[in-house]
Amino acid sequence: EPEFSDDFHQIMTWADEFRTLKVLANAETPTDAHTAKGFGAEGIGLCRTEHMFFDDERITAVREMILADDEAGRRKALAKIQPMQKADFLELLSIMDGLPVTIRLLDPPLHEFLPHTPEDIKHVAEVTEVSEEKLYKRTKELSETNPMLGWRGCRLGITFPEIYESQLRALFEAACDLVKQGKSPKPDIMHPLVATREEMAKLTTMTHAIAREVIEASGVALEYKVGTMIELPRAALLADRLAETAEFFSFGTNDLTQTTYGISRDDSGRFLNPYIEAGIFDKDPFVTLDQDGVGALIKMAAEKGKATRPDIKLGICGEHGGDPASIEFCHKAGLNYVSCSPYRVPVARLAAAQAAIRNA
Ligand code: PEP
Ligand code: MG
Repeated sequence: EPEFSDDFHQIMTWADEFRTLKVLANAETPTDAHTAKGFGAEGIGLCRTEHMFFDDERITAVREMILADDEAGRRKALAKIQPMQKADFLELLSIMDGLPVTIRLLDPPLHEFLPHTPEDIKHVAEVTEVSEEKLYKRTKELSETNPMLGWRGCRLGITFPEIYESQLRALFEAACDLVKQGKSPKPDIMHPLVATREEMAKLTTMTHAIAREVIEASGVALEYKVGTMIELPRAALLADRLAETAEFFSFGTNDLTQTTYGISRDDSGRFLNPYIEAGIFDKDPFVTLDQDGVGALIKMAAEKGKATRPDIKLGICGEHGGDPASIEFCHKAGLNYVSCSPYRVPVARLAAAQAAIRNA
């Protein structure tokens, strides 16, 4: 954990006396979680579980899973992945003991995980004993023209439920093991890229079913929440329906900005500067929240969510969660927390305090 001077602590303590927004961090590694906690994060607001699978050994297991052409093949790969996930969750929940840890189920834009080179295919062929030719064919079948608008997020969990079930099992087993050790894990399960009430209802039912099974088998008591990211305009427009089963919303403003403007978050740079020079944009909307457009969707979704479920927990976990002007907007919109990169936690604590003072 980082070490700080007494002055730093004093200033942060003053800030904390004023702010009403909680400040959580986006983290998926123990290093990030320790850093975040050292900077004063009050939990993890976004653990992107797909980021836990980028290293060489693990990515082959994920490739094996997505390239499998039937459920049995996916389950075989998941049998390798599940213990790794359980170990990951044990560690994160331990570091953040007593604080909320928001685990977002797999949201891999498939192109990031599909094999990129013949070597990648070879590795998968070696472990699966499936021919390279077949793996090439499957890779081609799964390649999308617009992966960021494709088979992403909960669409993967709905079409291949065994993937989310395996992650949920790993998470609840880890949490129950920690309860047995006298710890207080607080997992929040978050579903990505939800657009419809039916998706949310199905995913919530799945989550409770696995939770019940694991909790009953372990014989301990465990509290958890199930919620959704709001990162599509449709989700914001119909947030009252999502709140029928979602206990919290987390605004994924990276995707929400992308889908509201219809501008690719990966390619926006190409015309962003000319747009700023021409005075059409005053700022990069992927850095500073577009309060008029994306912000209107956030306010609407917050109101609709509260109308259905008055105690709904509301937060933001896009990059904007660490930007002072956007944090002030979140304060005014009545959100409960912001979640940002670990190194932005002190800035967010100060910005949240300044927002509270300015708007008192
Ligand atoms: C988002 O879309 O704002 C978000 C936090 O999710 P990701 O960046 O992982 O798509
Ligand atoms: Mg997103």
